[in-house]
Parts: sequence; C-alpha cells; structure tokens
Amino acid sequence: MSSTKETQPTIFVIFGGTGDLNARKLTPALYHLYLDGWLPEHFAIIGSGRTPLSDDEFRAKLLDGINEFSRSGKAEKDKWKDFAQHIVYQAADVKDAATYKKFGQRIDEYKKEWSVQPNVIYYLAVAPEFFPTIASNLAKSKLASDTTCTRIVIEKPFGHDLESSRELNRLLSDIFDERQIYRIDHYLGKETVQNIMAFRFANALFEPLWNRNYIEHVQISVTEQLGVGERSGYYDGAGAMRDMIQNHLLQLLCLVAMEPPVNFTADEVRNRKVDVLRAMRRFTPEDIRESAVRGQYAAGWMQGEQVPGYREEPGANPKSNTETFAAVKFFVDNWRWQDVPFYVRTGKRMHRSASSITIQFRDVPHFVFPPETAESWQQNRLVISIQPEMSIRLQVQAKRPGLDMMLNTVDMVFDYKGTYTSQAPEAYETLLLDTMLGDQTLFMRGDQVEAAWDLLMPILNSWQGRASQSFPNYSADSWGPEIAEALIARDGFHWFTLPLNGHE
Ligand code: NAP
Repeated sequence: MSSTKETQPTIFVIFGGTGDLNARKLTPALYHLYLDGWLPEHFAIIGSGRTPLSDDEFRAKLLDGINEFSRSGKAEKDKWKDFAQHIVYQAADVKDAATYKKFGQRIDEYKKEWSVQPNVIYYLAVAPEFFPTIASNLAKSKLASDTTCTRIVIEKPFGHDLESSRELNRLLSDIFDERQIYRIDHYLGKETVQNIMAFRFANALFEPLWNRNYIEHVQISVTEQLGVGERSGYYDGAGAMRDMIQNHLLQLLCLVAMEPPVNFTADEVRNRKVDVLRAMRRFTPEDIRESAVRGQYAAGWMQGEQVPGYREEPGANPKSNTETFAAVKFFVDNWRWQDVPFYVRTGKRMHRSASSITIQFRDVPHFVFPPETAESWQQNRLVISIQPEMSIRLQVQAKRPGLDMMLNTVDMVFDYKGTYTSQAPEAYETLLLDTMLGDQTLFMRGDQVEAAWDLLMPILNSWQGRASQSFPNYSADSWGPEIAEALIARDGFHWFTLPLNGHE
C-alpha cells in the first residue's frame, strides 16, 4: 500500500449477497482490496439473502464468482482461504423486521471480539423496491443511528422518475445524514473517468481551450454489443434513457463541462457538477422531436450468430415500446458552453462495445496550405476512451514524411497499458474503498440525482405518451437507427465511430 489512506475496522453487510452483483463485482472487488493490502486487520463480510446456505456454501458460491469474474483470474488457494474466514452468511428476508436483530447481534459480536467501534457498511445489492424497506428496518432496529460509523450504499437505479427519486431521498434523509448515504454510479469509479478531472485540472494546457471559443461540439457515446438477454423483466420498465443516460452519460457530461472546483473535496466537486445539471437547457415539447431520438433493436446477426430482436427476448413484451437506444442533443447554458452541442448516445446490440468522449475543436481560422496538401484534413479532436481501450488521444495535423508538403492526421496518445505496468483497479474496488474511507467524491449526492431526473422528465413523459410507430427501427450490429444520424447531421456533424483507432 503506497498511500496515506488507512482503513478502519469494517463490517460489510451485503443485502443481496446471493445475487449476481455480489458474485460478479462486489466480492471480487473486496478480494482485490484484500490482496492489495487495503482491508484492515479487522474486517467482516456478512452476506445475506433468503436462500438457506451455510457459511461454507456461501463462500463456495463467492469463490466461483471470483474464479469467473475477477480481473486477476482464479483465486490463489491460500489467499482465498484467509480471506474467506472473514465471510459469514445470514439467511434473512429483508421484509421481516425481526431478522434485523440477528444482524445487530452479529455486529455486536464483532465489536466485542475486536474491542473497537467498527465502521458498518450496509450495501443494498437488491432490487430497488427493497431500498425503503431495508432503510426503514435499519432505522427501527437502531442499526444506523451512529452517523459517523454507519453508511448505506444504494445501487442504481435511484428512483424511476423525478417523483420517486425525491420520495426515496426524503425517506433516506429522514433516517440518515447525507454523509452516510453513498449512491453508486459505478462509472464514476472507473480509472479513465476519474482521469478526466486529472487531465482537466492538473494540466495548464487544456483548460484555456476548454470552452465555446475553441470547442465546436462534444460527443459522448456508450455502446454495447450485448442485447437485453434475460434482463427484460427489469429493462422493460427502464429503457436506455433511465438505465444509462440519466446516470452514467450525464455524469460523464458533467465531468467534461464542470467548472474547476476550489479543491478536491466531495462537496466542492459535487457542487460544480450539479451546477452543470442546473445550467442545462430545458426541453420544451417542441424541442423533443428535434433533440431526442429513440430506437429498439430488431433481430439480426452479431458476429456470425443469429440474435433475437428486443421484443423476442425471453420474457419480453412482444409489443414493448421500451427504447434500447437513445440519443439526445443537450446544451449547457452558461458562459463557458453557450450554444456548444453535447451529443449523447447509448444503445444495445450496437456494432461495437465502447465508451468514449470526443471533444471536437473548431477548425483553423484560415487554411494556409494549398487544398491538395490536405487529403485527410480533420479538425483537432481529443478522444477520451473509457472502455475497452483506456486512452486519451489528441488528434493533430502533421506533415507526412516526403519531399512534398502533404498533411495527415496523427495521434498523440496516452495509453494506460503502454504507460503503466500495474493493472487498473475495477470501479467497484475504488468505490468500496472510498466508502470505507468515508470519501463521497465519486458518489452521487441527492440533489444531483434529482437534477438529472428533472432534466429528462419531459423527454420520458413525451416518449411514454407517444408509442413509437417505427419500433423496431435498427438492426443488430449497427450504429442505431437512421434518425440518430439525422439528429446530428442536421447540425452538419456525424457520429464518430468507436474507438478511433487511426482516423476516419
Ligand atoms: P439479483 O441477481 O436478482 O439478486 C437479487 C438479490 O436480492 C439476491 O441475493 C436475492 O437473494 C435477494 N433478495 C430478493 N428478495 C429478497 C428478500 N425478500 N429478502 C432478502 N433478499 C432478497 O440482482 P442483481 O443483479 O445482483 O442486482 C442487485 C441490485 O444491483 C439491483 O438494484 C440492480 O439494479 C443493481 N445493479 C446490478 C448490476 C449487476 O451487474 N448485476 C449492475 C448495476 C446495478 P435470494 O434469492 O437468496 O433471496
């Protein structure tokens, strides 16, 4: 451990311990924190679910998860054995108020054994309908009354719309202090996403250009090849706008558009992000058709395999009006960004899985070279690749080697793999460590979540009230519906395909 950060004795209570998120993300992340020496000497993980399991059966299930999903491959036998001793299982139904006593007893046993007041982190890895039940039962059982040592982690989705997110915030704030509430948006824990702030605010070079005078437009794109698969039960009530844009993509936009914070404390950073959301141009009913488009994938072929359309996925509604693709043109109405469009798109069953942000700079004011010199002239672009490539590339013009003057676009690249030998931690490692340390910088504050919902509600309401006549409107293995091309083409631009290895 090469840091001054030190974690205190901690008990994790994972509601939804038998679920997918725990197996795939949480336990592998905790295991890596353990391997890397971040976990304190005294720590315990109490997993919970309704399924009756012994401690050993639960541990075996988690070991399978690590072996399948961990970034470092299969667990080392001895290390796992040590780590697993810290894990216990408590079968419990979250609706049953009496079972919270059992959690209390377990926590008290650890306190006694360790002779310290540990931090207790309640992680709600369950369906959102249980968030209020668990929070209320924790309060009734006085398991979260110590505001300095107890924390609650809430997974996404945080509400279904503005009203439900307000209601959940009200309920949580009646029970907890805001500094106890950790609303996860796992995108914020990604290395490349955290690096946007480092890139912008630790370098003098870019900030003077980071405004409407030099930037023509911004594109934020998060696409995935996967379809909805077995998740249509959840997804059909959500859709691309709620599942991706309300949280991940708007958070990326905030990081690009925010003003420099005074310092790197949680509230300073989050104040600047919420300023962006508040400055975003509201959508009138007339704007919506021009500024927001939706799509739903049809059956087709992906990498040689036949795949079903969204409406034919297992358990899906054959008449579903849910969007699996959404693209929106946003504006941030302030001095820095007035009239600079931010195009945001996300979709499933797209040609490639990639997340990136492209900043397109304005063209040179005057072209001094003869036209034939610029075969592939391109305005400067900064491309921040979040996944799967982790890189930042600045695209500039250069002279091609040779006796004549020919210009070419070349990349100045910062590539994680080439620069660092150590593996980047998973987002959940960063976020779980921050929860232990009590650092909320990378978590959503209640007002941020509500501001994001408030911005999108006119679009969501309009889409809900107006069934799409054209669904399904894009084929698998494409870049989405044609209307998404039209959305950006009207302004004279086009979507950049991802990732930009080489140039268009
Ligand atoms: P999941 O696989 O369906 O797991 C749900 C968990 O809830 C199981 O452990 C289940 O345990 C438990 N549960 C259900 N009803 C319960 C009850 N009445 N009392 C106690 N436990 C109960 O879901 P998941 O994919 O892990 O997702 C969990 C949460 O994380 C959701 O809010 C989801 O939106 C969010 N999330 C998940 C992912 C992911 O990659 N999976 C990513 C981002 C966010 P038993 O069956 O043993 O009762």
